[in-house]
This record gives sequence, structure tokens and C-alpha cells, in this order.
Amino acid sequence: MIIIMKSQATDTQIEKVINWIESVGYKAHPSRGVERTIIGAVGDNRDKAVLKYAESLPGVEKTMPILKPYKLASRESHEGNTIVSVGSIPIGGPEFVVMAGPCAIESEEQLLESAYIVKKGGAQILRGGAFKPRTSPYSFQGMEEEGLKIMDQVSQRTSLPTVTEVVNPLDVDLVETYADMLQIGARNIQNFALLKKVGHARKPVLLKRGMMTTIEELLMSAEYILSSGNPNVVLCERGIRTFETATRNTLDLSAVPVLKGLTHLPVVVDPSHAAGNWRFVIPLSRAAVAVGADGIIVEVHPEPEKAVSDGAQSLKPEKFYQLMDDVRAIAAAMRH
Ligand code: PEP
Ligand code: MN
Repeated sequence: MIIIMKSQATDTQIEKVINWIESVGYKAHPSRGVERTIIGAVGDNRDKAVLKYAESLPGVEKTMPILKPYKLASRESHEGNTIVSVGSIPIGGPEFVVMAGPCAIESEEQLLESAYIVKKGGAQILRGGAFKPRTSPYSFQGMEEEGLKIMDQVSQRTSLPTVTEVVNPLDVDLVETYADMLQIGARNIQNFALLKKVGHARKPVLLKRGMMTTIEELLMSAEYILSSGNPNVVLCERGIRTFETATRNTLDLSAVPVLKGLTHLPVVVDPSHAAGNWRFVIPLSRAAVAVGADGIIVEVHPEPEKAVSDGAQSLKPEKFYQLMDDVRAIAAAMRH
């Protein structure tokens, strides 16, 4: 149920409504918009009729059931678009955000060089994996904590905030101490223990759609994080599995406008893991801007042929600079 406050409702009235919601056994999730405050009351659906009584409380305009199975992620429960800050970088606002860097952190030199390249190109956030979810148990699994420490140092030297993946709920506290944003999902999209754990984290979450999840399932996974208390979730379309084999996955560009209609959360696109081939990364990035994504996350490596992970889809520096020129031009054209 959502409780819509009157536009002139006072802070005390809002506070009283929140306390009342919690006194009847629901969790209150207030969303303070420019016009008015909306309070999501989330809990056991079976006796939600009691929430109707909120209409008699001072400052309340009306109550409305949220019909979607994802409550807090739905557009109804939130006025306007959510802006998620990664360090000092807002995602979901007017500025198109580029997160870029290598698939895996391989050494301090490799990450520092990558960071200089992506920063020179104009990327705002550095990516790099320390815990790698690999299809084969024989592939490089990541530098783990040593990699996180390198990332932290490189971040300080270059002033780029960072995003890195965490695959095990037991590592969330550790990763959180080093990274500015926690990447999860794809293969782990329905690891409910992990979703709830990052839901208790203080850092924002980049939630990647699984290769076999529907848009509704993606939003239900986001709901786990939001309902656990972390409001800072960015959704990522990274390609889904279809019958097509010419690309590693099929980039579902339609997911972007569909998600924009259903949720207030920012949506970004990962063209690298969708394509699996660097040749398609620039055209797909252009498409991501044009289709209305809030940003992209792209793999860039100083020497892709030497990369320990995902070299085939990683961009060389010159290609990345070209991508950034194209992205800037399309983003500027879209503002007109
Ligand atoms: C990655 O970001 O390097 C990665 C492994 O992505 P995905 O899980 O989407 O394949
Ligand atoms: Mn990768």
C-alpha cells in the first residue's frame, strides 16, 4: 500500500504516519518528493486492509494499493526518478555516466594505466573485478582482497570512484570497505542471501539482469535490496540468452524504455558482456545513449590481447576515446 501525504503535510504529521505504519506491523519507506511525500507500507499482504485507516490520520490525502508485485521499485511508490550517487557521481540525473575499466584487476600497473586511460577519455567511474564469477573453475578467479586494495589506491590517485563485483554474501563487508559501488547479479541475480546482504550495505548497488531473467524478475530482485533498506540500486541490462550465437548474448535494448516506464531506478547498459566482441561495443554504446539509458559500463584494457579475462570484448584506449566522442555527441543531441 502507498500512503500519499497532502502537499502541505508537516514533518510531524509525516513522522506520525510512519510511526503508525510501523505500529501495525508494516515497514515504512518514505519517499520525499518535490511536490509531496509518498510513504510505502510494505509487509504481510494478508491484512493490508488495516492500512486503509491511515486515511483518517492528519496530513494524509489518500491510500492506494500498489498492484505490481515489486512495490518499492515501482514508479507508483516514488515521485520522479531516483538518483544514485557513486562517490560524487550521480547516476540517473541529466548527465550520461560512463563506468569503464578492465574486466579483472590484474596488477597495480595494469589498473593504474587503465584508470588513466578511462579518465582521459572522460569516464566518471572506474570498474574492475577482484572477485570474478567465471564459467570455468579453471579460469582466473580474481585477486580478491589484494585486488581491492589496489583498486582503493588507484581510486585515490585518480579521484575516480569505483565499482566492483561481489559474489559471496560473506565478502560484502570486506568489498564495501574498499569500493564505492557493489556490483552483483547476472549469474547471481536470484542469490537471495546476497541480495539481502547488499540490501543492508551502505554502498550503492549495480544490479545486473541475469541472462535468463525477465524484466519483472529483475525488478523483484531489486525489491529484495530495497526492502532490506538500501534505496540506492542501479539496474543494468547486460544481454540475455537467445537462440542467436553471433554475439555472446543478445542486448535487450527494449528493456531500457520498458524499465523506465515501470521503475524510478536508474538503468544502465553493459554492451561489453552483451556483445562479447569489441567490434560491437561502440555501436551498442551509441544505441544505449539513444534508447534513454542513464549510463554504460564498458570493459577497457591497455592491452586487450594480454587480458586475463574478457580480452575479446575489451576496448583498446583509442577505441574507447572514439566511443566517448560518439557518446558525448549523441547525449548532446538528445538534450535538444
Ligand atoms: C563482469 O562485469 O566482468 C562480469 C563478469 O559481468 P557479467 O556477470 O554480466 O557477465
Ligand atoms: Mn568481464
